[in-house]
Amino acid sequence: MPISAYSMTLKGEYDVVQLLARLNNSSSANGDPTQISQANRDFIAGDVVCPGCGLGSPIVVASGRSKSDPKHITSQPHFRFPEHLELCEFEADGTTSSLDDHLVTFSSTKSALTRMVGDRVSKGIELGIFSQETMRNMRQWFLEVRRTHSYRCEIDQDFLAEMFRLPYDYQSPLPKFTPAMARLPDFDPNEFGNQKFIDENEDIYEVLSRDRHAVHFMRQNQNIITTRVKRNAGALIFDPSSTQLEYRQVRQLAHFIVGQERSVNWPSKFLSDERKPLYSLVSAFSALLLFSNNGDMDRAIEAYVSIRTSGDPVDRMGGNIIGLNPFFDHGVLSAIAMAHELRKVRPNGLVVSSRIEQIRNEIRSLVFPG
Ligand SMILES: [Zn+2]
Repeated sequence: MPISAYSMTLKGEYDVVQLLARLNNSSSANGDPTQISQANRDFIAGDVVCPGCGLGSPIVVASGRSKSDPKHITSQPHFRFPEHLELCEFEADGTTSSLDDHLVTFSSTKSALTRMVGDRVSKGIELGIFSQETMRNMRQWFLEVRRTHSYRCEIDQDFLAEMFRLPYDYQSPLPKFTPAMARLPDFDPNEFGNQKFIDENEDIYEVLSRDRHAVHFMRQNQNIITTRVKRNAGALIFDPSSTQLEYRQVRQLAHFIVGQERSVNWPSKFLSDERKPLYSLVSAFSALLLFSNNGDMDRAIEAYVSIRTSGDPVDRMGGNIIGLNPFFDHGVLSAIAMAHELRKVRPNGLVVSSRIEQIRNEIRSLVFPG
């Protein structure tokens, strides 16, 4: 249920009020979505398509108002599409104010920081570096990536709970357990349980070693991963490993831009929290710069420099588009994809804690024989 959608005729993305104003020759008084002529309704149904998946025939839904207080607006006017392609980011039915995780509003005026990013986007549009059409192409690229790199999520919470108990396989400086150790007076059997478990499960640790970044996110975000898996039970979920290169580039550019934008006070360490809306905003802007330059970092930086050295935008609302951060939860999704891979090597389930306990008992029985 997008707030703004793409007009094929006008080649741009508009929200309901903007579109009606354009159709009625820009008198904003006619942009009232509660009074739409049949002609306009027909035009919109034939012309406007979902900015995510490109399917059409929307109806216009006027803003919702609170029953007890009609002055209080509960939802913005928006477009409702009869259907979407699977995985379209606008597929979810929800309140129009809660945009899908991947979407950011560039024109948000909430803070100096969001305004600054909005201004950069407006200027980039003015300079012709990107356009609403670029934005739309990027969304379609992302939809295609998701459609070709998604899998049915069959991991359950028990599997995850065991996965989170996997011991770290950092290089232990200790030799492997050997029974003679058990005769030492101060020998602690527990120390060697994890190591033996790791040695027994080389195939599991081979999977974990493929993506250290994902393992890091797995350790740090256990609750988020569990919630996300619960929400996606039996549904398609995106495996982001095919966008690893793009992800790295976007992070690099985001770090660079944050380092260069010194007129604003960035919250400390926000670059390490990928779920923060502000991070999503900077990530979406960086992704747009890279996408419009075919992933060429040097040219993306050149484009950013042009934006920074060309003064303020003439029209600050020019960047009034919904941006896409394709890398929202990249780390968390990588960790879930890793769990999915682990399930392939342990289709009957993952047994971690009880096996480690068993190993410790075996070692203990050598230390303290019956
Ligand atoms: Zn759609």
